[in-house]
Amino acid sequence: MAEKIHAILVPHPFQGHVNPAVHLAIKLASQGFIVTFINTHYIHHQITSKAPRPNGALVDDIFAGVRKSGLDIRYTTVSDGLPVGFDRSLNHDQYQSSLLHVFSSHVEEVVARMVAGGEKVNTLIADTFFVGHSKIARKFRLVCISFWTEAALVFSLYYHMDLLRLHGHFGCQDCREDPIDYIPGVKAIDPKDTMSYLQETDTSSVVHQIIFKIFEDVKLADSVLCNTIQEFESDTITALNTKIPFYSIGPIIPLRFNNGTVATSLWSESDCTQWLNTKPNGSVLYVSFGSYAHVSKTDLHEIAHGLSMSKVSFVWVVRPDIVSSDDADPLPSGFKEEIGERGMIIPWCCQMMVLSHPAIGGFLTHCGWNSILESIWCKVPLLCFPLLTDQVTNRKLVVDDWKIGIDLSRRKLVRKEEVAKNIERLMSEKSGRESREAIKKVKGTLEKALGPQGSSDKNMENFINNVKRLVCKDVSPP
Ligand code: UDP
Repeated sequence: MAEKIHAILVPHPFQGHVNPAVHLAIKLASQGFIVTFINTHYIHHQITSKAPRPNGALVDDIFAGVRKSGLDIRYTTVSDGLPVGFDRSLNHDQYQSSLLHVFSSHVEEVVARMVAGGEKVNTLIADTFFVGHSKIARKFRLVCISFWTEAALVFSLYYHMDLLRLHGHFGCQDCREDPIDYIPGVKAIDPKDTMSYLQETDTSSVVHQIIFKIFEDVKLADSVLCNTIQEFESDTITALNTKIPFYSIGPIIPLRFNNGTVATSLWSESDCTQWLNTKPNGSVLYVSFGSYAHVSKTDLHEIAHGLSMSKVSFVWVVRPDIVSSDDADPLPSGFKEEIGERGMIIPWCCQMMVLSHPAIGGFLTHCGWNSILESIWCKVPLLCFPLLTDQVTNRKLVVDDWKIGIDLSRRKLVRKEEVAKNIERLMSEKSGRESREAIKKVKGTLEKALGPQGSSDKNMENFINNVKRLVCKDVSPP
């Protein structure tokens, strides 16, 4: 009888990576996988101390609810190398440094313990950003799957960093500014649309070191799972497939968020349903800059004044560390009084629940990949304000390629007048029509991909068959 697949799944310890990893675990377990999900102590602590507690009891296993429905998802936690109470947002580089140098040895210890304890683990699925995944997989003879939670275009640009260097588009003092037109499967792209890390001249930062390492690592993986949709990026995916088996299986988003089976939020969720219920359909702008990026105080104030000038109703997620975790009240003084009942300001929410409310008509977003997929799913057009990393490249896909949103500003310094103007442009019945129509179509593509015999459905089946083959090959005698 074929050996059952038992996969260890390691997410990158950030909200935007934990969310798709949790839903991937559920997807795989529904297909018969045994999954051991490894969270860091810090992520576990954030989730469980913020989640609603049934009967006041602390949750010690975030998957306990889904396990009751028969899914074999086991759960454990490890250190990321820093104390749980350490302020990772304020000390970003130290956190990244710990993920670069220390985290993988803690994960390796768990894997070694499982193997020594006789558990028949045969597969490692690690977020591509997890440094050293191929080394651990090789050491314990595990099939090695790299899980890429961003767009295939972003993967491909990183994957071809050597080509970018060779052509003088990356890693030089005076890089070329003409379009990049030689990456296989990627149509000519302006260097300004590449990820922020590829645009920096100083490539010695800790995040650069991580990116360099993981893209050496990923070349040794058996395959890549990507949270995108084949129809969105088919040429890029086809070209990548000539290098490594690359499966697009997205969108991996919480489609059944209402029953709250697995808590994932790192902050307590505020519920704004009652307030939204009082607003006309499509009239409210949802504003959020995700879980990780910081906004400068100057930009935050311009956005606040622009929102105020626009006269549009809005829900604004002002994360406690949006400017910095040591700036508790970064909004302009008098702003809350000025907007009164027209705006709701909250620290965090269940984003899918808000986006799927009929009152929401637009999303002012930092262009995080999950946010884009979730917004498409809810047919909410986007107002784009990318801050860093892949968000810059995602903006291009949303505005230039798919036309499901518009730019908030293309200038270095955002101005309140253009914030107000573009909010009105997106939200107005007439000028917002193009984005609304386009997003309906794109949602259709996405639904089809997930449906029976859709591209993501088929790719998932091919991926599973491939893993089964690799597992059998590895356990059969030479
Ligand atoms: N999110 C949420 N509540 C909020 C803001 C964000 O649940 O108030 C979730 C959102 O649904 C998404 C994730 O956090 O799944 C953010 O990921 P994304 O890739 O959009 O951005 P990142 O945080 O990685 O920059």
